[in-house]
Amino acid sequence: MTSVAFIGLGNMGGPMAANLVKAGFQVRAFDLAAEALETARAQGCDTAATAQAAAADADFVISMLPAGKHVRGLYMEGDAPLFDVIKAGALVIDCSTIDADTARQVAAAGAEKGIGFVDAPVSGGVGGAQAGTLTFIVGGSDVQFTQAQPVLQAMGKNIFHAGDHGAGQVAKVCNNMLLSILMAGTCEAINMGVKNGLNPAVLSEIMKQSSGGNWALNVYNPYPGVMENAPASKGYQGGFQVDLMIKDLGLAMDVSQQSAAAIPMGSAARALFTLHKAGGNGKLDFSSLLKLYQDKSE
Ligand code: NAD
Repeated sequence: MTSVAFIGLGNMGGPMAANLVKAGFQVRAFDLAAEALETARAQGCDTAATAQAAAADADFVISMLPAGKHVRGLYMEGDAPLFDVIKAGALVIDCSTIDADTARQVAAAGAEKGIGFVDAPVSGGVGGAQAGTLTFIVGGSDVQFTQAQPVLQAMGKNIFHAGDHGAGQVAKVCNNMLLSILMAGTCEAINMGVKNGLNPAVLSEIMKQSSGGNWALNVYNPYPGVMENAPASKGYQGGFQVDLMIKDLGLAMDVSQQSAAAIPMGSAARALFTLHKAGGNGKLDFSSLLKLYQDKSE
């Protein structure tokens, strides 16, 4: 049986690990939080007392951690870096959204020990993680991309090879920067329409079927009540937090600075989401940006 170590069992990693168990993999899981470990055990994972115990002898090591410093710390730093215990020939699949530079550095450190590495950030959110329908955006060699397939297919629906190491992270931030711009534009347009007496549902349907149509209008309408299952209709709870979008826009700024790629729209979107966070909205779903546009004096 193929063995998979899974490190980081949070909102995303927990359900991803559970889907691997359902697909017949032997999963040894580790998280710093005891509660996350308990949930993983209840879902059929073996649990380990340390990341090192989980990863030793595993064929694949998957990580789903908050940021680049956690990924670098896990594999390369401290008293017992994981690259000291992972067996040669194993493949590390880092699904965290992190900076492309760290992904390239960790890949190079693994290669020195004969350990493969791909960056494989995801799109699809907690719902996609639970349903096993995530999109994986992979950076690595052709051989590593092929090697990762059986594991990724157990957790996702669309699996893309973006290019070499780090390319998965670059593609991921390009997508999320565009998403932030589309959401800001959609909030702006709906707010202006409503302020001029339009019904938000009617306006949304018109724009959806017209040249302004986009993902936010199709599946994630930011106006409460227009779309029953969207976070906007549930008090902006669940979904994708403003804080996480700001993190991704920070990563986009890094990529733009390193490559001198102009991102005026991405910079504007980042300023808007940062202002929105300053109003105490960091934990709300990112479609709550609509509130920033709404006239509080009415
Ligand atoms: P989360 O905070 O819910 O989970 C992170 C988990 O990692 C926590 O359980 C934490 O205890 C654990 N952890 C941190 N350091 C650790 C270490 N050294 N060893 C073991 N465990 C450790 O975060 P999440 O929402 O699951 O997001 C994880 C990653 O996925 C992030 O990079 C995020 O940007 C990305 N992502 C999230 C979403 C989303 O909708 N939540 C969507 C796409 C991508």
